[in-house]
Amino acid sequence: MRTRISHITYYVDLRSAYVQFLGCNFTCPWCIRRLTPWDHHLDSNELARLRFQGMLSMDGFLQIISDAIVKYGMEEVVLGGEEPTIDPALPIIIRELSNRRLRVRLLTNAYEINDELLSTLRQCNDCEVVIGIKTLDPNKHIKYTGKPIEPVLNNVKRLLESGVRVIFETVLIPGLNDVNDIEAIAKYLATLSRDSILIIDPLIPIPGTPWRRPTREELSDAMSRAGKYVRVMSHERLGRPSEVITLYPRPR
Ligand code: SF4
Repeated sequence: MRTRISHITYYVDLRSAYVQFLGCNFTCPWCIRRLTPWDHHLDSNELARLRFQGMLSMDGFLQIISDAIVKYGMEEVVLGGEEPTIDPALPIIIRELSNRRLRVRLLTNAYEINDELLSTLRQCNDCEVVIGIKTLDPNKHIKYTGKPIEPVLNNVKRLLESGVRVIFETVLIPGLNDVNDIEAIAKYLATLSRDSILIIDPLIPIPGTPWRRPTREELSDAMSRAGKYVRVMSHERLGRPSEVITLYPRPR
């Protein structure tokens, strides 16, 4: 069976693999993948070396996972890159990882959560879903992602009602998803659950797009205003440094 996995990196100090899927059902112009198809935490020599070697078979993927458990004592797998939910193999992948007693974090835009995936997540004790909320404005959502927001919000409710552990993430984009918008997102999330968590990331600007990186003050402002409604975090402040190596594509 083929997967849509094209790239895997490993964070040695965190004992965590980052599994990257190829392809997305959204078209966000600020998508970091427009800068590089590879994990941007890799050093420049490694980025220059990497060449696409195709998408992994299920057997090839599971062999890499087994090797990383034995060699590095891997404990966690993050499923992300572009959009994992467009891979029909995703429920099997999650079950295989869970059977190996690994913690699983699924990063998704939550546009497509089919019944098999929902059921798999519901039965997985060590799974967490991180849902990226692009904007709550329906017009901006369809303009920039190419898809309506309603399925995303419906799927957020389905996941929460099923008891799946969910946290949320949004990108602070001055002029598009700015401090006021992020406060509105936090206010909305607080209506869904009393203990919602929102990660706020500053935009990494993409050349050719009109949006700039927010200032530190704007990020602090967004965090304190959202923090009135939900627990807030920022990858930029919480991220621990770690050595990062490539598990796939393999060196030739
Ligand atoms: S949903 Fe994520 S991966 Fe897909 S285009 Fe938007 S930012 Fe990129």
